[in-house]
Formats: sequence, structure tokens, C-alpha cells
Amino acid sequence: PRSQDKLKGETLIMSQPVQNLVIVGGGTAGWMSAVYLRKALDKNIQITLVESSDVTTIGVGEATFSTIKLFFDYLGLQEHEWMPKCNASYKTAIKFNNWNTQGQHFYHPFQRYETVNGFDIAEWWLKIKRDEEPFDYACFLIPSICDHKKSPRYLDGTVFDDKVKDLISREFIPEKNVLSDHKVQYPYAYHFDANLLARFLKDYAKQRGVKHVIDHVENVKLAEDGSIDSIITREHGNVSGDLFVDCTGFRGLLINEALDEPFNYFSDSLLCDRAIAMQIPTDIKKDGINPFTAATALSSGWVWNIPLYGRDGTGYVYCSAFLSEEEAEQEFRQHLGPAALNCKAKHIKIRVGRNRNSWVKNCVAIGLASGFVEPLESTGIFFIQHGIEELVSHFPDKTFNEELIKSYNNTIAECIDGVRDFLTLHYCASDRTDTPFWKATKQEIKIPEQLNEKLRLWKTRLPNNKNVNHNYHGFDSYSYSVMLLGLNYLPESSLPALNHIDEREAIAVFNSIKQKANHLAATLPSQYEYLTYVIKSQ
Ligand code: FAD
Repeated sequence: PRSQDKLKGETLIMSQPVQNLVIVGGGTAGWMSAVYLRKALDKNIQITLVESSDVTTIGVGEATFSTIKLFFDYLGLQEHEWMPKCNASYKTAIKFNNWNTQGQHFYHPFQRYETVNGFDIAEWWLKIKRDEEPFDYACFLIPSICDHKKSPRYLDGTVFDDKVKDLISREFIPEKNVLSDHKVQYPYAYHFDANLLARFLKDYAKQRGVKHVIDHVENVKLAEDGSIDSIITREHGNVSGDLFVDCTGFRGLLINEALDEPFNYFSDSLLCDRAIAMQIPTDIKKDGINPFTAATALSSGWVWNIPLYGRDGTGYVYCSAFLSEEEAEQEFRQHLGPAALNCKAKHIKIRVGRNRNSWVKNCVAIGLASGFVEPLESTGIFFIQHGIEELVSHFPDKTFNEELIKSYNNTIAECIDGVRDFLTLHYCASDRTDTPFWKATKQEIKIPEQLNEKLRLWKTRLPNNKNVNHNYHGFDSYSYSVMLLGLNYLPESSLPALNHIDEREAIAVFNSIKQKANHLAATLPSQYEYLTYVIKSQ
């Protein structure tokens, strides 16, 4: 209920502020929420995080999206302060292996296209270069950096990409921290050890006043209006709150189990429903550290490889309709070879989809409890960051205004659905049909009509900002274009308009990219060297 006051003849509705915020779950979602909310909200709000010592965290989720840098910037953390503690490395791209029939690779880099006379350089590539050189090497600097295992920074800290050099310098603190308002393409993201990051964020949050309760939540007590009154823990009794953040992972203890919110599965469009995860030690001094995540297609899904400082995180995401757990592990081990001989495999059932609503009454789900798509473009942690930021932007008072909640839910749904459609494209645009799984990705996947319409258009011209999904979902048109080119889903001919424009400028841009790429490959330090001698030694 609102308290009302009469002031100068007008009705003033007094806000009743949220004072007590309870986060349940101490995985990446729980601790990212705790640190961010602690920083964003004033000290009148008490923040408590409750986590069970009986339920382990998912322990994967180690490759990120380039916007993650904003998160660390917001906390005021510099790379040398957190990266060594989390065995972190730089990620400049995703390398897709064997996603088309020719078994080639291509890079999806964190770098946008140059534009020449109003057209993306990729449109020019179709006209001038398509028979000469793969599009990614012709259009971007990053593939060359990746092939040579280079760091995106020089030893003095300068970033390779002139366009963002100043924006990413140590002194620069970005003004805007909201993802959807952020217009800059950062040239890299990070890989990190998920458990070490959770530990790091836990210390950071506790030092800043977040109350930490280690206890198992056994039950949830609802109020008369169906909202959450309190959670009932095994040893600490009832923990009550005004607002609850459900970070309990795939189980969705508060949102799904207590509040009964339905979960909408994406199995119509994304077939994979299982993963096997493994950690493999690496000799980084000898072999270096790749500055990219790899996604390698296998018979019934794909394998991620995430190179950290000292080990790789790897996993096979597959569809259980085509492989049993044993068959999947066998195929995965065969793919990994002797390096994985003594490594333990963890089998995980993945819940792919999203809650109908991620915010219900006084409960907001963040992380796996809210929604998840297979980690093909490393979007899990991005969803967390987005969910937290939007929570701050929609922060309620105790009236829990329905319109505010609706707006939050639409924003989250648009983001997750947008990524679902983008990932669907990875499968339906690939021309692989060599196994039952890959056949099913052509015959059984339901392609949303809007995407189908665009796919027809993209056979004529490449995606651009006018014809991709406009709802914020993290992906710019260049990412769509890169995927289509990489998967061999190409327009048959180049744009007729380009026949009427002098191509010399485009040729000069291609030459300049080549020159710069060669220069970077020759002059940047290796990622191993940079992390060891700059980041670790500060
Ligand atoms: P969890 O890590 O599962 O944490 C749940 C927490 O809830 C735990 O602390 C647990 O103790 C607590 N809890 C549960 N029940 C109770 C209870 N009854 N009482 C008290 N506490 C309880 N994301 C990326 O960005 N990049 C990737 O490369 C990536 N790869 C992935 C690969 C796989 C196979 C999977 C499944 C996910 C991947 N993700 C990735 C997603 C990422 O791992 C998650 O988004 C991230 O780890 C957040 O998890 P979480 O905190 O929501 O859940």
C-alpha cells in the first residue's frame, strides 16, 4: 500500500523504498549481481547473498562477450587487478571450425567492418575479392592476430585497434555504462576461470558490505498476495526481504519452483540439450595462449575450447536425440586426443529457453534461473550483465509497479529471443547435412518467419543495420554478415550498385587492412608474453 500526503492541494504518493534485497545463489550470476547492485544502489539498501554449500555452481561459463569490459570498468577494476587472480586471458574472436561442408574455419571477430562509399567492406569483398581471399582475412585485422597467438595490446598497453585505442586506455572511464546505449565495439573480451572469478567477486562484494550467508534454502514462504515473504534456510531460519534475486541456476528455486512461472523451451529452434565439460592442463610457455574461443562442429553439436592462463576449458554441446552420454563422451575424447586422457568429464543437462517472465512480483531471476541458450556466442554472462543493468534501470519501490515490471520483462525477452534467432541462423545457414543431427538442423528446426524473410533478403545483399533485428540483443549487423559469409550462405552476386562506383577506394582499404594485419602479426607481443610480463607483474 502507498502512503499518501496532501501537499499544496495535490496528492503526493510517497514511495516506499526497497530496503532489504536478498540474492539467492553464489555462482557467477549471484556474485555479479551482488557487486554491481552494491555499487549502483545507495547504502540504505541492505544486500544479503545466500548460497548453499550443498549445491555446486555450474562451474563453466568462462568465455565472455566484448561488453564485459564495461562491467569491470563500472566496478573501477583494472585488468591487472583481477585478471591474474582469475587466470584470465584475452579473447578477440570466436573461431568456427568445420561449420560448413568444406570443413573450413572462419573467425567472428570483435571488430566491425570498414565502410567504403557507404557500403560495408564485405559487400566490396563480394565484388572484388571473393575468389581471391577468405572474407575474414580480407576484411579484418583480428584473424591474423589470432593465427599468431598475439595479445591485443602492445607491451606499453596500447591496444592494436586505432578506432578504440583512446576509449580503452587505462585512464579512460566510460561515461555510459548501460549496454544498450553503448555504441563502441570493444576489440576484445576475456576468458576466465569461473570459480576464481566468483571467489574474486565474493571478496570484493563482502569488503563493500554485502552480507554473506552460507546455508541451504529449504523452502520459500509466500505472502498473501503471492509474492515472496521470506526464504527458509536450514540453519539460519527465515531470511526475509523486500526484493529477491533468484540466481539459483537451472533449477529456478524461487521463480519457477516457488512462484510457478513457466519456462519456455527453445527446442523448436535450438536442438542441443546436453553438455560435457572438461578442464585440460596446457603448457602455455611452450604452446602459447590462443586469443580466441574455438567452436568446432562435431557429429551432433559442437565443442568449445576456452584457453585460460594455464589450462583450457572445453566441452561438447550436443543433442541427446542423436547421441547417448557414453557415445558423446567417446566422440569428445576422440576429438581431444591424448591431452584429455586423465581428465574428468562432467555431464550437464542444459535448460535452453527463458522464463515467460523473468520478473514476477518481488522476484527477479538472473543468470541460468532466467534463461540460457547454448554458449555458441558466449552470451550467458552477457545476459547476466544485461539483466542486472536493466534491474537497476527498472529498480522498483515496494509497490512493484506492474508497468515497470512489464517493461523489464519485455526488454529481457527481446534480448534472449534475439540471441536465440541469431544462434538459429548458425545452424540453418550452415550447409552441413552429413549426420542425422545436421540433417535435423535443416529439416526440423523452426525458423521464425521474420528470420526466414531476412534470410531471403540476405541471399541478395548482406545484413546491414537497417535489416537486422532492432531489439537490443548484443549483436550488430556485422556479426550476422560474418556468420553468413563464414557458413557459405552468400549472395550469388555482388550489389549492382557497386558496378557504378569507382572501386579504387575499396581496393586501397583492402590493401591497407592487409598491411596493418601483417604489421600487427610481426610487432604485437604474444598473448603469453603480455599476460606474463605485463599483467602478472603489476
Ligand atoms: P550456478 O552457477 O548454477 O549457481 C547456482 C547457485 O545457486 C549456486 O551457488 C548454488 O549453491 C545456489 N543454490 C542452488 N540451490 C540452492 C538452495 N536450495 N539454497 C541456496 N543456494 C542454492 N556463459 C558464458 O557467458 N560463456 C560461456 O562460455 C558459457 N558456457 C557455458 C557452458 C555450459 C555447458 C553452460 C551450462 C553454461 C554456460 N554459460 C556460459 C552460462 C554460464 O555458465 C552461467 O550463465 C553462469 O555460470 C551463471 O550461472 P548461475 O550463477 O546462474 O548458476
